[in-house]
Amino acid sequence: MKGSACARCAEPVERDTSFDTDKGPMCVRCFTDYAAEHQPEKKLDIKELKARKEMIEAETTGLLPRQILLGLIEDGYDRLMNGEGKFDQEVERLATDIQKMAGLAVARNVMNVLAALGKLVEEQEEEVRGTIRRLGTL
Ligand SMILES: [Zn+2]
Repeated sequence: MKGSACARCAEPVERDTSFDTDKGPMCVRCFTDYAAEHQPEKKLDIKELKARKEMIEAETTGLLPRQILLGLIEDGYDRLMNGEGKFDQEVERLATDIQKMAGLAVARNVMNVLAALGKLVEEQEEEVRGTIRRLGTL
């Protein structure tokens, strides 16, 4: 590539100081700009970025789903606005609801882990039984 020119700025480039791209060789500065322009984030408009953010949030709500938390807060706020509750009571109720929800979520997680472990142990037992049977035939 000795003696060739940058595909963007036409400056002469050497093999060891240039980058090959689908547009041809580029000098370091042009390659950096080119790479920045081709970042996937740059291609997304605001609507697409928002959709992606929502998707990531939905995937990462984890233990306490955001929608349910928002619902709890809104319910408390509505009761306050309608004069049905006192601020301290609503905060207390919210804290209790969140604790209950977290407790249930953790219990559900533990049950899932136990179920997965149980299945694994069963498989291991079956494997050991199989090995013992094979040993008997040797
Ligand atoms: Zn260049």
